[in-house]
Amino acid sequence: MVPIPWCETCAKYLEQDDLAEEGKCPGCGEIIAQRAKTPWHFKLLVVGTTIYLLYRLGQGIDWLVRHVHF
Ligand SMILES: [Zn+2]
Repeated sequence: MVPIPWCETCAKYLEQDDLAEEGKCPGCGEIIAQRAKTPWHFKLLVVGTTIYLLYRLGQGIDWLVRHVHF
């Protein structure tokens, strides 16, 4: 997968074709690194999903404790 150019300054994704010479952002002139850097909101999504799954797991355990009499 080709990394999507991400401009930190403009906080937006850019098309490879939109980049000016030397990989500069057309908006602010910042040189966009072509590294496959994970955007912070993707990390946030992963963290959020993990928290949600743990929450659901907790609910499941709670349900078991209430409904299963050992
Ligand atoms: Zn920019």
